[in-house]
Amino acid sequence: MKITVFGSGYVGLVTGACLADVGNDVVCVDVDRDKIEKLRDGIVPIYEPGLGAMIETNRVGGNLDFTTDAARGVAHGNILFIAVGTPPDEDGSADLRYVMAVAQTIGIHMGEYKLIVNKSTVPVGTADAVESEIKKQLMARNQSIDFDVCSNPEFLKEGAAIDDFTKATRIVIGAETAQALELMRELYAPYNRNHDKIIAMDIRSAELTKYAANAMLATKISLMNELANIAERIGADIEHVRIGIGSDPRIGYHFIYPGCGYGGSCFPKDIRALTRSAASLGLDAGVLAAVELVNENQKQNLFAKVSDAFSGNLAGKTIAVWGLAFKPNTDDMREAPSRTLMDSLWAAGARVRAFDPKAMEECSRIYGDRADLVLCETAIDALHGSDALVICTEWKAFRTVEPSLFTHTLAHPIVIDGRNIYEPSRMRSAGIVYYSIGRQTVR
Ligand code: NAD
Repeated sequence: MKITVFGSGYVGLVTGACLADVGNDVVCVDVDRDKIEKLRDGIVPIYEPGLGAMIETNRVGGNLDFTTDAARGVAHGNILFIAVGTPPDEDGSADLRYVMAVAQTIGIHMGEYKLIVNKSTVPVGTADAVESEIKKQLMARNQSIDFDVCSNPEFLKEGAAIDDFTKATRIVIGAETAQALELMRELYAPYNRNHDKIIAMDIRSAELTKYAANAMLATKISLMNELANIAERIGADIEHVRIGIGSDPRIGYHFIYPGCGYGGSCFPKDIRALTRSAASLGLDAGVLAAVELVNENQKQNLFAKVSDAFSGNLAGKTIAVWGLAFKPNTDDMREAPSRTLMDSLWAAGARVRAFDPKAMEECSRIYGDRADLVLCETAIDALHGSDALVICTEWKAFRTVEPSLFTHTLAHPIVIDGRNIYEPSRMRSAGIVYYSIGRQTVR
């Protein structure tokens, strides 16, 4: 099949590469010239396991190409994916300007039937707006060309995106014509052989399904973090509580880890956007508002612990930070807890020595050169010359460290673990002051 994907970010590149990998002829379009030039030169601008190799194979094989030429993109695909960003607007609602710009481009250039598939996370009603925009452009050209718009929300997780796309647990398709659904079934057939994972529904329900999934997941995290804070103050251990509640199959063990708050490009903005959508309908989305509030507070939790460790006196202190990405296996630092922490440390007059296995370039792009930030070559390097360590991301490489490393390198043996990756008893034996989430501080 001939496919065009508008937007070559995390979702667009994974979609384009995976669809090319099963034999489709794919063109990825982006407005970012620099990004497209890099991709044409075989450089992948983001870190996502397996993506680079998949792009390279298909680019060299001739069935994956990159362009900034939107007209060429529209002409190429029978199926046109919209996978552009939907960042938060000033009031928290989703900013649809990029989605609508693609819709306009499609309306201006299309010359025959197209199936337009929206993969961006968008508020309910966006497919209608995309359809209206395309019709408007066609009318302006005195053209009457048949087309369909459908919704195909993306559920991939950064860090596991290729597997999530190719071995998805569900493929949600909001379609309202038989032709659109049939084409989507054909497109997804290579990933749908074992059993039928396609969940077909009306477009509005599909659009809401994506927000509902993220709302449910973010709620689990914030509730767990709230329980962790209660456990910490009441003398309990949230890790025991986690095992205790996860054993109930109605609750389950998935996604109930306490931590230093959720970040990334999806949960924060999607929770805000859904809250705004509800407000615009006169509904008070109290649970969602609380989920966001708890998360904002939780992101401050690490700084509060560092501050406690130094009795509020952080001026002139140097703090090692392990993990900058919002989660492991990605270089994405959008709304990452590490950023909240570093901003607070700098505001308090502290310096930071930071390390992340994949996000160093992204960190330097965000913060540039600053005297109070040293980007270190290794995790161990970050410890040397630091007064304490804070762990923001649970990268595997951080989990197997001998506690003696901390006592040999840090000026004070203080570790603040935002992801509960160490056993408090081992830290106690090594003489480390160990703060974690929802557990008693070891002194
Ligand atoms: P991103 O910011 O990584 O990439 C978006 C890309 O779109 C950018 O490269 C940008 O230059 C490009 N773009 C903007 N306007 C364009 C236009 N008119 N034509 C062509 N390209 C254009 O975003 P992302 O993380 O890939 O997210 C895309 C969408 O998918 C968002 O709605 C997001 O909420 C949703 N989503 C993201 C994830 C995730 O984990 N990142 C998961 C599921 C859904």
